[in-house]
Amino acid sequence: MHAGGDLGWMARWKTARHLSGCRRCTAEVAAFVRFRETLPELKQIPEVPWNRVAAEMRANIRLGLAAGECVRTSAAAWGDTPLFSGARATLALASVLALMVTGLMLEGPAPRMAPSNEPMVQATVNGIQSRSGDQAFGLMHSGASSVSYTVGAQGTLGARYTDPETGQVTMTKVYVE
Ligand SMILES: [Zn+2]
Repeated sequence: MHAGGDLGWMARWKTARHLSGCRRCTAEVAAFVRFRETLPELKQIPEVPWNRVAAEMRANIRLGLAAGECVRTSAAAWGDTPLFSGARATLALASVLALMVTGLMLEGPAPRMAPSNEPMVQATVNGIQSRSGDQAFGLMHSGASSVSYTVGAQGTLGARYTDPETGQVTMTKVYVE
């Protein structure tokens, strides 16, 4: 603090008196002075109004706490209302129904599991393959540790994996025909 001139007059006077008779401390203060000079940025930092910054931070924290409290109480109040619980349950049910209807429409007028004689793409233990009846064409990725699959709505199945030995990334994709 003495090197930066941050001491009060009494402490500064005492320190200066000690420094006049102590080489070690004089050297240390000189080192601090040099250190300050090697960091020009330190001198360029504008005077920061710490009290104002602290007050703003406190205000923001209070505001955040108040907002959190407000959300919490209103959520609790809403949750207690039977009408809301019922409405929420209905909404959830409606969402599930909408999802099911969408699924059915995507699958076609007669939803069913793909029979074995229909062309299909599937992932197997060793790879991905396009199968039609008892014929199958596949792309193997045996040995790959983690494979990520992507399924396309147009009947595509992709696999992406990293060869553990070479580190090579391979992406394959098969189509329904
Ligand atoms: Zn000393």
